[in-house]
Amino acid sequence: MSSIDKLVENTIREDIRAIASYHVPDARGYIKLDAMENPYALPEHLRADLGQRLADAALNRYPVPSYATLKAKICASLGVPAGYDVLLGNGSDELISIMATAVAQQGRRAVIMAPTPAFIMFSRSAQFAGADFVGVPVKADFSLDLDAMLAAIAQHQPALVFLAYPNNPTGNLFDAGAMEAIIGALGETGIAVVDEAYQPFARQSFMGRLPEFPNLVVMRTLSKLGLAGIRLGYLSGDAKLLEQFEKVRPPYNVNVLTQVAAEFALEHLDVLDQQAGLLNAERSRLAAELAALPGVEVFPSAANFISMRVPDGERTVAELRSKKVLIKNLSKMDKMLVNCIRVTVSTPEENTAFLNALKASL
Ligand SMILES: *Cc1c(COP(=O)(O)O)cnc(C)c1O
Repeated sequence: MSSIDKLVENTIREDIRAIASYHVPDARGYIKLDAMENPYALPEHLRADLGQRLADAALNRYPVPSYATLKAKICASLGVPAGYDVLLGNGSDELISIMATAVAQQGRRAVIMAPTPAFIMFSRSAQFAGADFVGVPVKADFSLDLDAMLAAIAQHQPALVFLAYPNNPTGNLFDAGAMEAIIGALGETGIAVVDEAYQPFARQSFMGRLPEFPNLVVMRTLSKLGLAGIRLGYLSGDAKLLEQFEKVRPPYNVNVLTQVAAEFALEHLDVLDQQAGLLNAERSRLAAELAALPGVEVFPSAANFISMRVPDGERTVAELRSKKVLIKNLSKMDKMLVNCIRVTVSTPEENTAFLNALKASL
């Protein structure tokens, strides 16, 4: 063994050495339908205005760590209930990791739970923070298995339960009544995190219901709405919980350019909402056309992506790649997702290119 390999073995945690790194394929020259990005840019006149605002940003200064202006804009324009504040993250990925770190060790390793299949960062963040992740399989139709969730909560006493609403990678909204039962069962022993990354498309939310549930926090992001590049997530919930998470947050985690761009975007939220509306209309069209294809089983989606089962997931993804269309193969993520693929809803042109490539591959 070389001396650098010895150094790695002597210093890096065994569980970190054992995992593969998060792989993001090089998308240059491809129609990119694998990451739930909004395909639309800002209109030309807004781009010029944004350029001016960014030029005026004080890049020589650290951000003001209270982020008061941006937070006030988020609270005022994104449905945060009166009296509630937000915590900001470098994407909601960072908020997930902040919460996992805050709960991980309470005398013993904490348990972090989610229905599975789930967003990969729930289990990864639990692992990195030194907590145990417990996944509870959803039912065959991807709905919550409430009995199994309640039994797992009673058995493991999780400190955090993530509920993505709608879920990724399946796309469905869980039953709100079942979610309430889970939040209620956690009571004073666990925090329920409703992850609303796809709220701009689902248009359903627990945000307005925060006052009903002291152990509920609601997390969202600007990524899927069209600002994946700036990395901004936000989280709301009881001030006493936010106060604790705030201690774990790196003080300057949201940079000045992100802050300026996000404030600008929130002043023009109508433009982004309109784009989300176009994508929702395309989601309906795409779902209907996919459902008509022999051998394709389309799953209902409230998000800006559609997941489906095809005869051979691996082959379909490879054939689409050879036609310069990138989608996500879900087959290896979970045994419930064998031969499942996920496509981001995009412009009518890109969706049609995907449909044609898919038809040719079936
Ligand atoms: C995309 C996604 C996120 C991550 O969003 P970022 O703000 O870009 O880090 C969080 N949760 C779910 C369920 C997602 O699909």
